[in-house]
Amino acid sequence: MNYLTRGTALNNEVRIFCCDITQLVQEAQDRHDLWPTATAALGRTLAVGTVMGSMLKSPQEKIEIQINGKGPLGQIVVDCYYGGNVRGYVDNPHVYLEKSPEKLDVGQAVGTEGVIRVVKDLGMKQPFVSEVDLQTSELGDDFAYYYMVSEQTPSMVALGVLIDTDRSVKSAGALVIQLMPNTSEENIRIIEDIAANIKPISQLLLEYDSPRDIVDALFDDYKELGQANPQFTCECSREKFGQVLAHLPVSDLKTMIEEDHGCEVVCRFCSERYQFSQAELEEYVRNQEAGK
Ligand SMILES: [Zn+2]
Repeated sequence: MNYLTRGTALNNEVRIFCCDITQLVQEAQDRHDLWPTATAALGRTLAVGTVMGSMLKSPQEKIEIQINGKGPLGQIVVDCYYGGNVRGYVDNPHVYLEKSPEKLDVGQAVGTEGVIRVVKDLGMKQPFVSEVDLQTSELGDDFAYYYMVSEQTPSMVALGVLIDTDRSVKSAGALVIQLMPNTSEENIRIIEDIAANIKPISQLLLEYDSPRDIVDALFDDYKELGQANPQFTCECSREKFGQVLAHLPVSDLKTMIEEDHGCEVVCRFCSERYQFSQAELEEYVRNQEAGK
């Protein structure tokens, strides 16, 4: 099961988030027909998105991550919701690039000539947008840089997706450790030491029974403040797409009626398909012509 633990350690001087979202990334792979490198890139972004979602204070808040490095994957988009639920897609799911037979080349697939944008909708009039340049495009380092530059929070961000020989998702998750403004020199050195020596998070998720066990192995005084079971959640529905179709220009609707006798809409975020009949499209036309 997908699982996230969040809490503090080292006398409450560091915040910790650790999640196992293997099933969630498998669902994303199945929904979008993601090839291995696309699975790794979207999976890492979903993992950090789960952490960002778990930081939100209310169900009215939402964050969207947009990564565009001008590489073969195109844009990666992940929406993060309260409690750690997420949804996301990559423009081109069929990307499989390797550095070596054991190592996927996420950096090259994402591309390094671009930015990470984080759009925070915190229920205010305007969303809060921040943007940083991509560094390595391996994404863990890039989000550490984002937290440093945009939120002035020094962070260790470990993101990992391990793909099995049959191309399914073997493990996927994140470990994020953030320093509070009051963190002592001694505790900063402890975190630096962890960051320099820790095994990949995808490996740790296989070695330990749960994210909680990983964190307990790192810190003697871990205090859990919350936990969640993040899900791949999309808020799309047939009704919502129907509303969009109903307001398309009449000429577009007539073209769909004449050429296809109906239409199929595919949600970008979850690849769910919705069919609309010729009769429904004709009703949308009639409503518009009647001025409704
Ligand atoms: Zn959807």
